[in-house]
Amino acid sequence: MTTAVVSGGTRGIGRALSLRLAALGYRVIALYRGDGPAAEQTERAGAGRITALRCDLTRPDEIHAVSARITGEYGAPSVLVNNAGVNRDRSFLSMTAEDWDMVLATNLSGPFHLSRALAPVMVEAGGGSIVNIASTTAIRPRSNGANYCASKAGLIQLTKCLALELAPHIRVNALLPGFTDTDEVTERYRLDDPERLAAVLDTVPARRLGTTDDMADALEYLVSTRSSYLTGQQLVVDGGHFMG
Ligand code: NDP
Repeated sequence: MTTAVVSGGTRGIGRALSLRLAALGYRVIALYRGDGPAAEQTERAGAGRITALRCDLTRPDEIHAVSARITGEYGAPSVLVNNAGVNRDRSFLSMTAEDWDMVLATNLSGPFHLSRALAPVMVEAGGGSIVNIASTTAIRPRSNGANYCASKAGLIQLTKCLALELAPHIRVNALLPGFTDTDEVTERYRLDDPERLAAVLDTVPARRLGTTDDMADALEYLVSTRSSYLTGQQLVVDGGHFMG
């Protein structure tokens, strides 16, 4: 059984990615920060194919320890999904250094450290695929998210640099979700208010939010041999919200 690692793999989009990879036959290691019940629930849903391991991605020491554990216990992964991400939205003029550092540490430095720790063993074992979960706001800015948008823009450039340097062994691509129906997004944009939801849907040609399964479908393509000539690219999955 080949191994896949999914950061933030126990909630929201990451949970759906873990479950899809498990259904495809991977042994999935889902990393999470602190939500134990969500981790247990995802393990149970994975029917023996998903193992959740705690690792704070803002801590390089924890990333190195968990990477050594994964490699030692399960062998080199053939798939790495850098999915974990956080928002700490504030207007730029009230954004603190801590708001900036925390978001950049999770969304950009986390993928750097995790990829840096696992890519060498992936190459040695014959290669594979890395998928970085960025965001459409990496290519089009939004208010109150200078830290988040900058972190995701950086993640796209990291994707391209790794695609260049890790070729031809590892393909590295970015998946850019638009509005996707997760608890985090519903709370942050208060989409349980029908008027707010309608206002958002007015801007989306597909007239619906993305589902976590939409993102899993895109991931399935990016890790499969059907995308074997695709590397260094950004796949936008947003119902046509941002074009071009
Ligand atoms: P959620 O908030 O639902 O889930 C985030 C996951 O990341 C959780 O499993 C969480 O672990 C984990 N995580 C957060 N911080 C850390 C950390 N320091 N160390 C380890 N794990 C951490 O997010 P979504 O599912 O909504 O988003 C997933 C990804 O998709 C993110 O990168 C996000 O930026 C991106 N995205 C989402 C969109 C959307 O509309 N939902 C749109 C565009 C991009 P725990 O549960 O333990 O806290």
